[in-house]
Formats: sequence, C-alpha cells, structure tokens
Amino acid sequence: MLDTHVENARQKMVDEQLIPRGIRDPLVLKAMRDVPRHCFVKSGDGSMAYSDRPLPIGNGQTISQPYIVALMTESLGLTGGERVLEIGTGSGYQAAILAELAADVYTVEKDPTLLESALETIRSLGYTNVHGTVGDGTAGWPEASPYAAILVTAGAPDIPEPLKAQLAPGGRLVIPVGDRNIQELVRIIKGDGELRHENLCGCRFVPLRGAHGW
Ligand code: SAH
Repeated sequence: MLDTHVENARQKMVDEQLIPRGIRDPLVLKAMRDVPRHCFVKSGDGSMAYSDRPLPIGNGQTISQPYIVALMTESLGLTGGERVLEIGTGSGYQAAILAELAADVYTVEKDPTLLESALETIRSLGYTNVHGTVGDGTAGWPEASPYAAILVTAGAPDIPEPLKAQLAPGGRLVIPVGDRNIQELVRIIKGDGELRHENLCGCRFVPLRGAHGW
C-alpha cells in the first residue's frame, strides 16, 4: 500500500516538478524516477519526500528540492563513464542519483554521523560505485582525481582552488557561490588552460564550511 503511494508520488514529482520546469535529459529523468528519495528522508510520511521543497535530514542540514537536484545533475552532462566528485554527502540522495549516471562517485562529508547513515542507505539500495569519506570537501579528494564532474551541494563564498585543480580537461564543476543565505548556481567548464563560467540560477544552500569555505 505504502509502496504504491510513494511510487506514485515519485512519478508525479517528475511529471509535475521537473519536466514542466525544463529538465530534459532522459538519463536524469530516469534516475529521478528510479531512486527512492523517501529512503533518504528519515521521518514522516514517505510521500513528503516528494514534495517541491528542501527537507531536513538532521544535524541542521537539508536535502535539496528535487528540481535543484535534477538541474545540478543535468548541468554536469553525464553519459555513464565518468568519475564524479560530490562535496556534501548529506543524506546520500544526490550521490545515489549520480551513481545511476556515472561510473564512480566519490563523496566527501564533514559530518561523520551523516556520512555513515548516507552510506548505509546507499549500500542497502545496492549501489557499489559510491565511495565516501569524512573530511573537508573544500580540499576535494585528490587521491581519486581528476574528475570529469564535480558537484558541490553547499553554498561557498568562492570557488575552492583545489576543486578547480582536480577537474579533468573538459570537466564541469557546478557550485552555489554567494553569501551565507543566498547564492548563484555557477557552472565552470575547464577548457584549454582556461575556466569558462556560466550562471545557471539563484539558489539557497546551507553554508559550505572548511578551509576554502565559510
Ligand atoms: N547532497 C546532500 C545535501 C547536502 S546538504 C543530499 O543529497 O542530501 C550540505 C552538506 O554539506 C551537509 O551535510 C554538510 O554537513 C556538508 N558540508 C558542509 N561543508 C562541508 C565541507 N567543507 N566538506 C564536506 N561536507 C561539507
């Protein structure tokens, strides 16, 4: 009973929140249809997980609104073979979406409790291509670099230099940049010796802490 209920809520999320706002990439839409977001949101009725807003995930952190997850993912232009870095594992939901679309996902979370719970959920869903570590993600994860795509899911004062350095040639970095309350979602594409910047939209994320954060 609950299963059909949440299943319907998830398909509705894609049909009513993502497609009308312009999410087009079929791989992204499929991942958003398949990954059970309610497994990453611990409390309350399962269908709440599919509402059009961010939700608390504990320790003062939030899981992003489904549209923002889809937009950020689409902006990375993944085709399946990539190695991807995520900063800010949180609930693990975004990492699971990336795991559907890339070969390997490396995710860094500063809060050990959140990381442990995220990895547990991710493993229980059968993903074997997500690698997580506790640390300051503003330093990236140099050991597994370079990355074809880097996604930062917390708001930064500026683009951390280590992340630029760990981006592969032609790679894409998507990051909210601004002040503590409101940011611009920025995409950076690493070209021949230069970084091309594009503003995608306004957004609101929890602050990115750390050496190259707040
Ligand atoms: N992507 C997550 C949501 C992220 S919320 C999801 O899908 O649920 C932002 C997360 O970034 C929080 O969990 C916070 O603890 C983490 N964070 C903030 N600063 C960080 C840093 N410097 N390194 C790693 N994680 C950080």
